[in-house]
Amino acid sequence: MDGLRFLVLSALVLSASVCHGASLNTNETEAQQFLDDYNAAAIDDYYISSEASWALDTNITEYNTQKMLTNVSAQLESIYAKAKVCLSSDNCVSLEPDLTRIMAKSRNYTELTTVWKKWRDVSGKVMPQLYSEYVDLNNDAVKLLGNMWAQEWNERIDILKPFKDKDSMDVTEELKRQCFPFWYSNLCLIFIFRIKMCTDVTHEDLMTIHHEMGHIQYYLQYQNQSVLFRTGANPGFHEAVGDVMALSVGTPEHLRTIGLYKNQDNDEETDLNFLLNMALQKVAFLPFGYLIDQWRWSVFRGDTTPESYNEDWWSLRCKYQGVSPPVRRQDTDFDPGAKYHVASGTPYIR
Ligand SMILES: [Zn+2]
Repeated sequence: MDGLRFLVLSALVLSASVCHGASLNTNETEAQQFLDDYNAAAIDDYYISSEASWALDTNITEYNTQKMLTNVSAQLESIYAKAKVCLSSDNCVSLEPDLTRIMAKSRNYTELTTVWKKWRDVSGKVMPQLYSEYVDLNNDAVKLLGNMWAQEWNERIDILKPFKDKDSMDVTEELKRQCFPFWYSNLCLIFIFRIKMCTDVTHEDLMTIHHEMGHIQYYLQYQNQSVLFRTGANPGFHEAVGDVMALSVGTPEHLRTIGLYKNQDNDEETDLNFLLNMALQKVAFLPFGYLIDQWRWSVFRGDTTPESYNEDWWSLRCKYQGVSPPVRRQDTDFDPGAKYHVASGTPYIR
């Protein structure tokens, strides 16, 4: 059960017990006892629910998939999770880490557009009917900017940075050269926690894993609160705590301290390269995050209908991000579904 449903249910239980009582119980000791009992029972339910969702997320067998198929949103997530692109007859790969790596590193236009299109063919394109059912139920110039959805553009920093002979702070090579002992030593410290993530040895994934550890740190901070308060101040705040960790780890000072960044240059040109790198990541992301929810809200309002799913998607992509598809799109394509947050119904603005 997710936090919100849990909270709503709890509020209902509490208000029901108040409303149906003939007189209001003002006994504080009894109220405290009720809360303690509730807490004890809820902790067990929370535990069972967390274990079950971990098993569901990590054990996508054929048998389990069949059992899930009665649920439309689970079907959408399952399509996304199992989608693979075949680069040749005997080489079929998933989004993470293979396709992400190709989008980030390849400079071959044909390869990039092929991967871009094939990913959409195996993910979004097989979803539109299901997606409209899901909505009912609930009521490049992508010049291939280094990312499957052009949501962050920092993978192109090497061709965009103003001072070519200066660094822009990417420790991928150093991580690989050191065979990443740092990577392992940190993971060992947190072995009692589980992070579901397919990592690649890159600067970006080093930042992401710290963002995820930020979430864990926040969980630890509220673990002794009563169950009702065992959640972020709001979902956005949880992401912010994750990013505080990632941003702190990504500074030149910290990366020098842990031996991943050897460059001692401390000049304005290196700073500007670094700042542009951050902007390509963080500023470029803002219009993307915004348009994802613009599209979803328009669908749920009924302004965007199944016939115009893809067309409206690309209008927003053009309006907010200034990007267009690298290959011709058709009515049968469903490009929003090629993004996890659409397939899984996860809002960006929370
Ligand atoms: Zn996060």
